[in-house]
Amino acid sequence: MAQEKGTISIHTENIFPIIKKFLYSDHEIFLRELVSNAVDAIQKAKRLVSLGQFHGELGEPLVQVKVDAKAKTITISDNGIGMTADEIKKYINQVAFSGASEFLEKYKEAKDAHEIIGQFGLGFYSAFMVADKVEIQTLSYQPGAEPAKWVCDGSTNFEMDAGNRSERGTDVILYINEENKEFLEEYKIQEILDKYAKFLPVPVQFGTRTETQRDGEDEEGKPKYKEVEVPNIINTVQPIWTKAPTELKDEDYLAFYKELYPFSDDPLFWIHLNVDYPFNLTGVLYFPKIKNNFELQRNKIRLFSRQVFITDDVKDIVPEFLMLLHGVIDSPDIPLNVSRSFLQADSNVKKINTYITRKVADKLAELFKNDRKAYEEKWSDIGLFVKYGAISEPKFWERAKDFVLLSNIKKEFFTLNEYRDKVAPQQTDKNNNIVYLYATNPEKQHAYTNAADKKGYDVLLLDGPVDNHFISHLERELEKTYIKRVDADTIEKLIDKDEKIESSLSEEQTKQLEELYKSAITKPNMEISVENLAADALPVTITIDEYTRRMKDMAALGGNMDFYSTLPDHYKVTVNANHPLATKILSESSKEKQAALAQQAFDLALLAQGMLTGPDLTAFVERSVKMI
Ligand code: ADP
Repeated sequence: MAQEKGTISIHTENIFPIIKKFLYSDHEIFLRELVSNAVDAIQKAKRLVSLGQFHGELGEPLVQVKVDAKAKTITISDNGIGMTADEIKKYINQVAFSGASEFLEKYKEAKDAHEIIGQFGLGFYSAFMVADKVEIQTLSYQPGAEPAKWVCDGSTNFEMDAGNRSERGTDVILYINEENKEFLEEYKIQEILDKYAKFLPVPVQFGTRTETQRDGEDEEGKPKYKEVEVPNIINTVQPIWTKAPTELKDEDYLAFYKELYPFSDDPLFWIHLNVDYPFNLTGVLYFPKIKNNFELQRNKIRLFSRQVFITDDVKDIVPEFLMLLHGVIDSPDIPLNVSRSFLQADSNVKKINTYITRKVADKLAELFKNDRKAYEEKWSDIGLFVKYGAISEPKFWERAKDFVLLSNIKKEFFTLNEYRDKVAPQQTDKNNNIVYLYATNPEKQHAYTNAADKKGYDVLLLDGPVDNHFISHLERELEKTYIKRVDADTIEKLIDKDEKIESSLSEEQTKQLEELYKSAITKPNMEISVENLAADALPVTITIDEYTRRMKDMAALGGNMDFYSTLPDHYKVTVNANHPLATKILSESSKEKQAALAQQAFDLALLAQGMLTGPDLTAFVERSVKMI
């Protein structure tokens, strides 16, 4: 062809400095873009063959990446469809450039340039992030096509000429600039290919590697080995998410998980995603063993688009609670060229969210139904996840109602309905509200769980990191149900059945008792109330109101609740007027003896609440010894 010079039609002259500057943090993606283009070109050739539109020899599809440190070049070659000179003009000079100018428009509009960085596939022109000069050598599949060459030095000027390629396909040669010479290091390229190209559908070769191969036997019949150079193929062309679930065994899923997360424990179970209407999505999601510190477990899901790795920051693409899952999602329908705020509003992303949520719910429902025992055994791992989903995703909650479990301090498990049926007969109060009781630390709260037990009440164990929020969620969702920690009040008040118990004390005596205990109080923010409880209930009980405590606990977990964390603790000291100790104290001969006994009873209550510590505890022990 005749030599041709031209100017790439674009209204902005300074596109390259901008590309270089603002994509700097992510400049390694040039390789992702160019290797993807090479893969696309090969896929197109395959398609043309299957459509009967290309009758030549397809050959073994292969993308090759070569680094020449001396010449300071990186070459990406493929045996795909190639381009004619006219196609270069159309696809590279015009189309590819329009992509770059679109980027520029977005960049101008964006309030924060970082919003778009790393999410905008610049395609071919991303090569200029690392190269001063880019050359294309290509030969189209079309019969009679001439090899073509295109060179551009990073200005908007290009040169086209006859090319030197003798086989169908394309070489893209990057002349790496000084600032980016790190990309001339082989390990660096290997690392980038491992990240982005590991699961591409066409073999990608990066140099060679030595492999030990069997080489017959020696005279004694022992096997011999030899070292051979073999092509270094960096990818698995058919990762498991592209296969049908029926082709796969558990081992395959587990092996793939190990490949993705070599340092993680085996997952609990997994879900194979596969949908092609109304959007296209495949993937495998794993339920990991969730440790309490679940912040660390996020950003484990990897997002692919047609087997090209895109990101492991899937925030806004999958629902918040599903970020605890591991695995891969592959969808060409997730728009990658837009900012996060667009993403949240995108209808495909919303549908994908709904779909994944439904699949996860299906899987959990199935596990629960098919093998409840195994499900209960896994509950300590999946419970956090299910509860988190129940709180944060209304659609998930609709389903989770049937398989979320409550467990009591006896380690029995119940569904929400089962639990309601179990406790409603005993634990309904005078206003027809059902009250669920729970402990967060049965050992420490034993005095209180014991009081509940005496009444025939059940006590749940809710000690997980999201349980506080989960409790509030249940109260909102379950009808006429209150959930209170066992030490939130005396058991009579927690489930107030309006049972009138006569007092064994006169009004005068009640006053006297109250005064005695008032003087025994050693801590701030405590309020005394003398009540007529059962004679076998505790003589003194110290409790802290459920709602203040819960808010404070939530504030401690973070969130915008700082106000609550500044509130002081308020305690209620309930003195049982009907306990024999009340009468005993009042019948003591001297004021001093009365005060000493009240002090002792009060300290016992502090002890049961876990509040008697330090010098107070020592003093109490010494006094007790003397009394004995
Ligand atoms: P995109 O890949 O998103 O279309 P690019 O800027 O990466 O945008 O590429 C523009 C076009 O150039 C491609 O659509 C394709 O037609 C052509 N092209 C790029 N690389 C190759 C290649 N290796 N072989 C054949 N055609 C290519």
